[in-house]
Amino acid sequence: MKYPFLQLSDVNVPYAKQLKEAAARVIDSGWYLNGNENKAFEQELALKCNSKYAVATSNGLDALKLIFRAYIELGKLLPGDEVIVQANTYIASILSISETGLTPILVEPCETTFNIDSSLIEKSITSRTKAILVVHLYGTPCWDEKIKNIAQRYNLLIIEDNAQSIGASADTSGINGHYTTGSLGDAAAFSFYPTKNIGALGDSGAITSSDEELIKTIRALANYGSDRRYHNIYKGLNCRMDEIQAAFLRVKLQHLDSESKHRNEIAKTYDTYITNPLIIKPLIFDSMTQVWHQYVIRCTHRSALCKHLEENGVGTDIHYATPPHLQPCYRDFFKSTYPITEQLANEVISLPIASIDNDAAKEIAQIINSFKV
Ligand SMILES: *Cc1c(COP(=O)(O)O)cnc(C)c1O
Repeated sequence: MKYPFLQLSDVNVPYAKQLKEAAARVIDSGWYLNGNENKAFEQELALKCNSKYAVATSNGLDALKLIFRAYIELGKLLPGDEVIVQANTYIASILSISETGLTPILVEPCETTFNIDSSLIEKSITSRTKAILVVHLYGTPCWDEKIKNIAQRYNLLIIEDNAQSIGASADTSGINGHYTTGSLGDAAAFSFYPTKNIGALGDSGAITSSDEELIKTIRALANYGSDRRYHNIYKGLNCRMDEIQAAFLRVKLQHLDSESKHRNEIAKTYDTYITNPLIIKPLIFDSMTQVWHQYVIRCTHRSALCKHLEENGVGTDIHYATPPHLQPCYRDFFKSTYPITEQLANEVISLPIASIDNDAAKEIAQIINSFKV
């Protein structure tokens, strides 16, 4: 394959020297959990995301679950409370809600943003609705006045699933701007799964929030429920980040802006050079800063297009072919149909973005333009 969808070694090779130094530092320190690398990474992440606090965690799903568990421990959410979330998200968003005893309420996405259609939120609100999980899908912030106003009017918590959009911003000032994702709502979860924009060399995640009480509760929950050594105030979990991953992530976080810039350049090249009328391109918004976790095009002849791309040496992926409500594990749980979500699931294709250069993007665009039915 000339242009594989994603080559993780290519993503990490530019940082190999720094990553090896970071690993050596941890190996030599003899300190592998709850140490200085975690502490430093938390401070660096909080600063980068305009948030007061950050907690490093084992992965993104645990980060989401910890936020919901903490709100339950604090009495701000009760088991059975409803959480509104977009129907076309990755299943982990939904799992975090149902796993903590809350009820996910699915809302259709908007076709132009792939994010929740904020005009549909209000009619899904009931007396049990207590939170909205906004998912910044594919690198595009999920944020507008409507979401803010509804949350205020109905007194809803806003939790961000920021697994795909670290460094994005709901205005044009970009990272460190006032509207950086991870600082928009009450709390945010991050994933550093190796394929994410900032990837660890294994599993890792994080939580940001400016709510001190929430952060304290999360820290205790993530460490067996203990507020101090051998003293357990919650029936807690073990959701810590390894020191070695924190050390790796400190290296990668330094390069977040240049990685986002690269993804934006590739997205712009695709946007300029893909002209095939059979393809719907994702929108580049003037009003916000996107970070292009995925560059997702749509085509009603998807399988033929995938075959054409593969025959021409271009790897693709689909995010996601089966939406959560059609997964076997939720078959008896969600009773409605979600036609827009299902249509998107049948039409979306993700193109290579992280590990290709501009010339490759131009060539891939030409291959797409040569597709006919
Ligand atoms: C990756 C991802 C998660 C889960 O993160 P993990 O680190 O893999 O547990 C949650 N939500 C979204 C939207 C994701 O893309």
